[in-house]
Amino acid sequence: MAVRFLVDFMLGKLARELRVLGIDALYIEKKDLAANPLSALKSAKQTDRIFLTRNTKLKAYPEVLFIRSEKAEEQVSQIIKHFNLQKEIKPFTRCLRCNQKLVSVAKDDVKGKVPFYIFQTKDKFACCLKCEKYYWEGTHLKNMRQKITKY
Ligand SMILES: [Zn+2]
Repeated sequence: MAVRFLVDFMLGKLARELRVLGIDALYIEKKDLAANPLSALKSAKQTDRIFLTRNTKLKAYPEVLFIRSEKAEEQVSQIIKHFNLQKEIKPFTRCLRCNQKLVSVAKDDVKGKVPFYIFQTKDKFACCLKCEKYYWEGTHLKNMRQKITKY
C-alpha cells in the first residue's frame, strides 16, 4: 500500500504540494493539535499515516518523519527520497482542497461548469466528488511537471 501522511498544522504548504503530486496528505488544523500534539500522533498511528512535523519534541517517535527544511520544495524532496516515492507521483489525481482522489470527467460533462475558455482549450478534466471542484490540465500543471522532474 502507498505511504500516506498526516501533515502538521505548520506545514500547510507542504500538504498542498504533496497533493499536487497525487500523494495522500491529510492536514491537521491548528485547533486540533494545539490541544495535544500527542493526539495527532495517535491519530496518525491509528490511521496508518506517517506524521510529518517540524516539532522537535516529536522527533523520536517511529511514526514521525521530522521535516528538516523550512522550504516546501526541499521538504517534498526529503519525503520523496526518504520513502522512495518517485513512482508514486501521479499529478492531477488528488483534490488540493480536501485530499480526495479525483475522478476523471468527460469533456461533455463539464460544459457550463468550467470557464468557457477552459472548456474550449482543454480536453482532460477531473472532479472532486467531495467539494465539487473541477480540475484541468493547464499551465500550472506544465510548470509542475518541470518541477517534478527535479525530485
Ligand atoms: Zn475537494
